[in-house]
Amino acid sequence: MTTTTADLPVVVIGAGPAGLAAAAHLVEHGVEPLVLEAGQAAASAVREWSHVRLFSTWGELTDPAAEKLLAPTGWTKPDPATYPSGGDWAELYLQPLADVLGDRVRVGATVTGVSRTGRDRIVDADRETQPFVVHFTTADGEERVFARAVIDASGTWTTPSPAGASGLAALGEKTAADRISYRVPDLKDPAVRARYAGKRTAVIGSGASAFTALATLADVARDEPGTHAVWILRRGISGSTFGGGEADQLPARGALGLAAKAAVDNGYADAVTGFRTEAIERDTDGRLVLAGEDGRRLDPVDEVIVLTGFRPDLSFLSEIRLGLDERLQAPVELAPLIDPNQHSCGTVYPHGHKELSHPEPGVYLVGMKSYGRAPTFLAMTGYEQVRSVAAAIAGDFESADRVELTLPETGVCGGAGLFDDPAAGQADGGGCCAPAPAPALVQIGVGAPAATVIEEASAGGCCGS
Ligand SMILES: Cc1cc2nc3c(=O)[nH]c(=O)nc-3n(C[C@H](O)[C@H](O)[C@H](O)COP(=O)(O)OP(=O)(O)OC[C@H]3O[C@@H](n4cnc5c(N)ncnc54)[C@H](O)[C@@H]3O)c2cc1C
Repeated sequence: MTTTTADLPVVVIGAGPAGLAAAAHLVEHGVEPLVLEAGQAAASAVREWSHVRLFSTWGELTDPAAEKLLAPTGWTKPDPATYPSGGDWAELYLQPLADVLGDRVRVGATVTGVSRTGRDRIVDADRETQPFVVHFTTADGEERVFARAVIDASGTWTTPSPAGASGLAALGEKTAADRISYRVPDLKDPAVRARYAGKRTAVIGSGASAFTALATLADVARDEPGTHAVWILRRGISGSTFGGGEADQLPARGALGLAAKAAVDNGYADAVTGFRTEAIERDTDGRLVLAGEDGRRLDPVDEVIVLTGFRPDLSFLSEIRLGLDERLQAPVELAPLIDPNQHSCGTVYPHGHKELSHPEPGVYLVGMKSYGRAPTFLAMTGYEQVRSVAAAIAGDFESADRVELTLPETGVCGGAGLFDDPAAGQADGGGCCAPAPAPALVQIGVGAPAATVIEEASAGGCCGS
């Protein structure tokens, strides 16, 4: 790197929890970050799910370097034992952090391309000595900035996966967009509630977001007759379908699955198993009919909520030489550590700059985006990633190489996190440890994890990290 290049800022893409923490770590090392954020405020993605209560406590949601930056401003950390909503996370931690970073965070700046200056991806000559060039758009037009390194912390929120089981949009999915949502709805908002109250809604997906949607729809159904959910699962129902229950080391995460189970057991939702959505057709009255690959056609629904996960947007990195796993679209060294076909426990070995590096030196994908399509990313993972990456960029390899991470296990260790053979649900086992037995049940208040009552949920054993 030339002296000139070394003087350039490190461009961080995205002012979410991972991007802002990366900036804090860079500042701690005396390296100037420039955070480019597409939204009009820091934490724009988190703000879009401000109504969702996190299953992690405040104690697991702040970054140590960020806390150090915030301390002189008089910032006080919220009670570490309590559970914030997305809105709380943004207002009480992420926005103050962006404020203290000041001009180093530029909002309303959408990154559209990253490359080596004067070198497209096929050119080898002098490649590694050229600074990065980052193109972005603002309300005033197009701009570019040069960078010594690029940390992509842009998350996956803007690119939800479709309903189609093939990974492509189901036939008719796009034209049915007026009745499809890809986010957990805020059913406390009267306008949103009116969309689902008294209606029949299909919920597609089997993760924490689907659990939350089912539980909140059940809450609506208690007050609004006619409200009903149809839960579409690719797999069968098994002991691990509802998550780890009480075996989950994050109790509020375990409680989400139990709330979904309660929705089914109490008749507010019907589960349709082994269903791979192939087409979404419009009925004569405008309602939607889900058609499966096996020829099944479900009774019409008024609304569909698709919660099948997220995928990384790699389009603006096309001129950069990335090393991504062909299945997960995660960095090749990281992918085996988080592959849901092997690990459903939610644990991941400590990893940092080495596992997050690419054939193109100086580029890192961190945070939610680093997991590609793998589920179970936790903010704590992202904070350790950016600590290591910032140290490596600053040349402090002693610190960068010393990665430490102990994550709470999900309590679901069937070893088949994404494997969706309908029979796989019944045949839990193998993988990293024993599956959690089916929890027996529940009375749950989603959004109030501290008040959750879990009865007889059996504690399944789980593997160590
Ligand atoms: C509903 C929900 C609940 C969750 N609950 C928990 C929990 O309880 N505990 C936990 O540990 N984790 C939880 N997570 C997972 C994870 O910690 C969060 O998603 C977290 O917000 C990820 O942080 P991030 O910084 O990687 O990405 P994001 O928060 O998505 O931030 C990325 C930022 O990049 C910006 N951006 C995107 N594209 C561009 C671009 N081209 N140019 C510039 N900026 C761009 C976005 O606007 C956004 O502000 C949850 C996730 C979701 C969706």
